[in-house]
Amino acid sequence: VMPPINGELIFEDVSFGYKEDQPIFEHLSFKVKPGETIALVGATGAGKSTVTNLIPRFYDVDEGKILIDGIDIRDVTVASLRQEVGVMLQDTFIFSGTIFENIRYGKLDATKEEVILAARIVLAHDFIMNLKSGYDTYVQERGSTLSAGQRQLISFARTLLSDPKVLILDEATSSIDTQTELALQEGLDRLLVGRTAIVVAHRLSTIRNSDRIFYIGDHRILESGSHEEL
Ligand code: ATP
Ligand code: MG
Repeated sequence: VMPPINGELIFEDVSFGYKEDQPIFEHLSFKVKPGETIALVGATGAGKSTVTNLIPRFYDVDEGKILIDGIDIRDVTVASLRQEVGVMLQDTFIFSGTIFENIRYGKLDATKEEVILAARIVLAHDFIMNLKSGYDTYVQERGSTLSAGQRQLISFARTLLSDPKVLILDEATSSIDTQTELALQEGLDRLLVGRTAIVVAHRLSTIRNSDRIFYIGDHRILESGSHEEL
């Protein structure tokens, strides 16, 4: 079982391919400090999602090691690992139910107060209160009741409740307007406080808000420093 962690993440000489003899990357090594936000950039198909898939062990490395706080992620149970490694995917997962239930999904025994506090922190509370029935508003899995930005805010609140120390965000490529982007950035910044994050970044604002940028291409990762240094 994974003990409480600070969130240091190390890739040590990691090689991985979905098929034998077809490596996506080889001998990948990097270190992310606790609380740091890394923007992962690179061409489509370069392997950004693949890198992030290895951390919650959706796939296992072929060679090398991934360490969280010095612990090889293969030495703990997958369930306990995934309590500490949260994943937010490109398509926000909303199920048919109330807004309240959709947020509480991050921590099934959360109280009403905890759910509302989480929504407040990521700045989702105001839009929720403007809905017909507030937190009791019923949303459909595929319905268009919520905008893409609102769905994201719900998932931020849900993730805040589940409280992972390491967070992976595979950012949506779909375009959103500038105002929504600013609102989401603010909510995301608040969610990321005290967490180590790897953000597969498509938006300039996300890249600008990261501590360091990793560029992936040509089967390896190049560290590109901070946005200001580029
Ligand atoms: P995008 O920006 O389009 O999301 P990406 O950088 O995230 O791209 P990956 O999804 O990591 O790219 O894919 C890297 C390579 O691995 C691609 O050539 C892709 O076709 C291949 N690939 C991805 N997932 C699988 C899989 N489950 N099985 C086999 N090959 C895969
Ligand atoms: Mg991807």
